[in-house]
Amino acid sequence: MLVTTLGYGATVPNARVAHVQLHRTRGARFHVSGIPWTAGRSALSRIYAAFECCGLPRVAGAFTLHIRPTDQLKELTALDLPIALALLGHAGVVPAEALPHLFSAGEMGLDGHLQPPASKRDEPPRSTPAPLSVDALLLPDGWSQILASWGPPGKALRTNHLEQAVAHLQGRQVLPVIAQKQAWGHRERWNPMDGQSWNSLRLTPLQVKALTIAAAGQLPLLIIGSAGTGKSHMARALHELLPPLTAHQFDEVECIYRAKGIPLSATEQPPLRAPHHQCTAAGLLGTIDPNGTWTPGELSLAHRGLLCLDELCEFSRDCIEALRGPLEGKGFLLSRARLSRIESPSGWVVATSNPCPCGRFNEGPRHCTCTAGHVQRYLKRLSGPIAERFALHVETMNAGASAAQPAPPLHAVRKQVAATRKWLIAHSAVHTSPAAEAVFQQHANAFSTSARGIGHLKAVARLHAALEQNTRTNTLEIGEVDAAFASQLRIFDRPRWWEKAEIP
Ligand SMILES: [Zn+2]
Repeated sequence: MLVTTLGYGATVPNARVAHVQLHRTRGARFHVSGIPWTAGRSALSRIYAAFECCGLPRVAGAFTLHIRPTDQLKELTALDLPIALALLGHAGVVPAEALPHLFSAGEMGLDGHLQPPASKRDEPPRSTPAPLSVDALLLPDGWSQILASWGPPGKALRTNHLEQAVAHLQGRQVLPVIAQKQAWGHRERWNPMDGQSWNSLRLTPLQVKALTIAAAGQLPLLIIGSAGTGKSHMARALHELLPPLTAHQFDEVECIYRAKGIPLSATEQPPLRAPHHQCTAAGLLGTIDPNGTWTPGELSLAHRGLLCLDELCEFSRDCIEALRGPLEGKGFLLSRARLSRIESPSGWVVATSNPCPCGRFNEGPRHCTCTAGHVQRYLKRLSGPIAERFALHVETMNAGASAAQPAPPLHAVRKQVAATRKWLIAHSAVHTSPAAEAVFQQHANAFSTSARGIGHLKAVARLHAALEQNTRTNTLEIGEVDAAFASQLRIFDRPRWWEKAEIP
């Protein structure tokens, strides 16, 4: 009978995986192959002493131990654990069929205690092998951080004693997962240049500009339009406009996902979360349990990424109201008994909504059966304060009925978004022309817009000006055009906007 498993084999000058094979037949002898006999004999002495200390059986038979790569391994004591497990596989103490998919490492003390070999303790392996497709990595403290990244995320288990390894393989003990520090150098790159979603959009020039501005400022965006006009598709395509994550940003995101119990391997791709409308307010905001353990909600999981709330009016009242703080870019408080925690995720919120219960409002009265009262009641769910917190409101129309054209190439739009952001960070001087001030005033007077609404109006106008002028000037001049552009994207400020009210 043959039992195989994987272990850590240190070679000069690199590190790699050692294949441990242990064959048993009738008789009573021990042969080693691939390593010096003295090293094999020392390992066996330690292992058998540990078996006795831990009350494990010493299996009889004639064994041949073969270790690959042959005659190259420098550090052999780290193979104590895999050899011990192979012996226990023969004894039937642990399931032998689980061992080929197991990577383990650790020098074993005579009491079964595991640790990295003394000579290697402070010296991390210099190279990483190709990711191992293993079910688990059993690693002692001291090596856990370095070797954890060799396997799939969340599979590295802290194992400081032989008994723990045995209990894990017997299914008696759940070992703690080692918080994995992924090598950022091996991250998954994100290159959305050939973004399938964005390139398949059909947009009007106004929509292109509105989406570019919303992306540049990561302003909360509400997309409203009839069923079948591609609202959800548009909302998701906006993910492709986000900049890639930096190492620091990824660490922030990874911490949140770990708290949720979702392993995340290093990636530049910003998160995209699109919760179903049956999601609860707790699912959206997160919770704290009586022990103080935090479970992040969708808002936190979309940190540095995109939170897409499809059919916002279908979400519960609690959910919609819970968005107030986050939409303003403010944190929100989670509390339970005397425990509390302030969360301030910085995801970009994009929501979509039908304009009426039947969803066919924009197709005209022949198709939409809803009365003005129906529409008003439906949209009331987006109570004034909520709709107002969305900086931009974009309408979608039926592709055939509007001036929609294929979206401009993604790389061009991404470039514009990045340039606008960069310009705004580098330059803060903004001058608002009297004509623009007059437009803001007119908007405020006509629709009784709140200070918050006017604030959004000015932010959108500023981004529009930056988008239009960023290559030409050092001081930003918000003109009448910019102000008027912003004003037409605040459709919810207008009472009975569905009757196509225009600025008087
Ligand atoms: Zn309708």
